[in-house]
Amino acid sequence: MSRTGILFLVSGPSGSGKSTLCRRLAKDGEAEFSISCTTRQPRFGETHGREYFFLTREEFAAKVAAGEFLEHALVHGNHYGTLRSEVLGRLASGIDVVMDIDVQGAAQVRACDDESIHLALVDLFVMPPDEQELAARLNGRGTDSAEVIELRLRNAIDEMRHWPEYKYRLLSGTHEEDYAKFKALLFGERLRVARLKRD
Ligand code: 5GP
Repeated sequence: MSRTGILFLVSGPSGSGKSTLCRRLAKDGEAEFSISCTTRQPRFGETHGREYFFLTREEFAAKVAAGEFLEHALVHGNHYGTLRSEVLGRLASGIDVVMDIDVQGAAQVRACDDESIHLALVDLFVMPPDEQELAARLNGRGTDSAEVIELRLRNAIDEMRHWPEYKYRLLSGTHEEDYAKFKALLFGERLRVARLKRD
């Protein structure tokens, strides 16, 4: 018996640790990572087609017009979007997909009229333990300027108000504790009868 894939949608403010959790899950071969498009500049060490598809604003707008995005949003002043092609075929083939997207994108995915997405969706909000720890994590990254950190901290506090919109919430502790809970959620969801196919 096979099953359709899970769309493991993960949100949470910068500094919650969600991106590391998503990347580790993909590295462990438990799910495939949905590579988003963005108009932001690559950070040091980021590669086109690995972390993101880095597009110009014109290229991004053309994909919006062509209806290629499952969802898209303006986040921290840059456009981000999930291509339908990153998600739909994999779900139909029974591959679990993990996506790291913001609260606006999550709301669009929940509101979409594709039944296969609703069946696949497992949405999780990762919360940093508190504001001080969040500020410390953002400062500790060393990849962003003071202004960017300030903007991200303000957005994070705003974003954290949205956790009740999600079905699951993970209050972040150590990375190992978080990862154990993260994987447990995915593994539990794999047992859902509604996604099983009799063949
Ligand atoms: P960063 O620039 O730090 O990689 O990501 C900034 C924010 O954009 C994060 O909150 C991340 O979840 C969000 N993000 C990344 N990809 C997408 C996407 O495809 N759609 C939406 N709506 N948000 C995204």
